[in-house]
Amino acid sequence: MRRATILLLTLAAIASAQTPVETARTYRQAHEVEILQQFAELLRIPNVARDTVNIQRNADYVAAEFAKRGVKTQLLSSYGAPPLVFGELNVPGATRTLGIYAHYDGQPVDPSQWLQSPWEPTLWTARHDEGGHAIEFPEPGEKVDPEWRLYARSAGDDKAPIVALLAALDAFNQKGIKPTANLKFLFDGEEEAGSPHLGAYLTTHRDKFADVDVWLFCDGPVHQSRKPQLLFGARGDAHMDVTIYGANRPLHSGHYGNWAPVPAMELAQLLASMKDQNGKVIIEEFYDSVAPLGDEERAALAKMPNYEDELKTELGLAWTEGQGETLPERLLLPALTVRGLSSGHTGALATNIIPNTATAALDVRLVKGNDPEKMLDLVERHIRQRGFHVVPEDPDEETRQQHPKIAKVTRSRGYPAARTEMSLPIAKDIAAAMTEAAGEEVLLVPTMGGSLPLYLFTDLLGKPVLLLPIANHDNNQHAENESLRLANLWYGVDAFAAVMAME
Ligand SMILES: [Zn+2]
Repeated sequence: MRRATILLLTLAAIASAQTPVETARTYRQAHEVEILQQFAELLRIPNVARDTVNIQRNADYVAAEFAKRGVKTQLLSSYGAPPLVFGELNVPGATRTLGIYAHYDGQPVDPSQWLQSPWEPTLWTARHDEGGHAIEFPEPGEKVDPEWRLYARSAGDDKAPIVALLAALDAFNQKGIKPTANLKFLFDGEEEAGSPHLGAYLTTHRDKFADVDVWLFCDGPVHQSRKPQLLFGARGDAHMDVTIYGANRPLHSGHYGNWAPVPAMELAQLLASMKDQNGKVIIEEFYDSVAPLGDEERAALAKMPNYEDELKTELGLAWTEGQGETLPERLLLPALTVRGLSSGHTGALATNIIPNTATAALDVRLVKGNDPEKMLDLVERHIRQRGFHVVPEDPDEETRQQHPKIAKVTRSRGYPAARTEMSLPIAKDIAAAMTEAAGEEVLLVPTMGGSLPLYLFTDLLGKPVLLLPIANHDNNQHAENESLRLANLWYGVDAFAAVMAME
């Protein structure tokens, strides 16, 4: 009897000694099926930014779910823009305020490429191309395998963090855990369309965000090795299309081949002149404005796991650009890539002509220090240096006869990179909380390769930004058959609970 009492007391002591993260994890483990059901419910609402009716439904759903959990929510709206879901949870006595950003919109879809409707969430035992098969959703109480995957548009990018946050709040409410910081939530409805109104929203409502100490961007993937990571920045992005002209109509390749200029060939030569055999951009001054790295950044790079060989094997690559520099190192330099190329047709559609135009879509990824316009200016100057007369629209006959080589250059508005100093004190607390949640050391990474409009927060609001991604790297984001590995969703719930309750 006495022994039993002691045992019970000991068990009670162990139970009460659970940290908030452990308590939240225990709650999550007992409610995985319910969390999945909620996730599927949100994923069933189509979320392409220009689909105004469904975008509104997404915003209403997200706002209502946060409101149910005690968050004071509000839809901020602006004419012609999807609503921004804003929420706040004030904690008496809290000394700091965390801003949390995610987006509820997703990339457009081509349903013909999907295994099932992009808006009908389906559970698979593994990736479809790695031996997985579709299964029924489990019933409450049934076991959930963390290697299962949920297929749907935005499963990874970027509805997973929204659902993980809701689950973490449920754990807090059910188990009586109090966040240690005030929380401000912001859910964007047009991130995949380039967040064209976010700057105006932030400016109009800047008072709401004045007390935020740090913004956490919950978007993007964890490391390819599946290790959790905290990132301190993201690259910027700028686009340019280049069209090269030949004759004013397509010509017979037999009657004119060897005499008429071939735009595709000229474009290939122009593109080849922009980059050397090792992937170094040889456009003048391309690397000149790159902001130098500090000691902390260099130390973080040195601590990154050596994952190059695994990644090359996974991707079927025998070489990579940059002569042995690692992926994290290469992401700290601006990149020039070809997003698309077109001139005539290939395969069964190919015809014996000299197509009279050739177009390349270029992507310039930017790092801290690069100005988007100036970087595109450098590319355009290079095109001129190669002897092209640059025009903003299709050339008229007079222009064609005056200039042997003509390139039409059209640009889209880009935005700059942003990078927070790695010595930021609160970042150390966040990293420690994430490490506790994950049960392994979180990787500290100077920048993400992809682009997010972090500059609005760093430059416009003057606040530091960190990225806390949860999705698996092989989630097919932006492509067909996007899928979230459930272990990543569980990590997300645990990590958000840990950060919201960090000391
Ligand atoms: Zn995203």
